[in-house]
Amino acid sequence: MSRTDQPDSPPPEWEPCAPGEVARLGKKLRGRKTRRVFLRAAVAAASAVVTGGGVWLAFGHRRGGEYDYGGIVCSEVVRQGADYMAGKVPEPTRSQIAEHVARCPRCGPLFKQMREQMDQMG
Ligand SMILES: [Zn+2]
Repeated sequence: MSRTDQPDSPPPEWEPCAPGEVARLGKKLRGRKTRRVFLRAAVAAASAVVTGGGVWLAFGHRRGGEYDYGGIVCSEVVRQGADYMAGKVPEPTRSQIAEHVARCPRCGPLFKQMREQMDQMG
């Protein structure tokens, strides 16, 4: 038995184009284009986030705002800020933070604001 049981008729794809076929094809193409535009937008957004993060890292953390006053840097001061306010930071870090806050143009206002907020809370 070498003959296949396949029917002799051509597969459905070979049938002549139905009236709506061209329009459907066009829609399909347009859909693909939209997806490509969306993809490009997503890539652009992602790279913007990456660039933004890099800028934030470079300027926010290194160049723009990291001051080393009192032998302690801004990020460390901010990290321990809440504990410092609560009086939980031991010496010598406590006086380091106090000196930093007194001299730092960034942490000074920040701590002042934090203290005001704490005063308001009671
Ligand atoms: Zn600072």
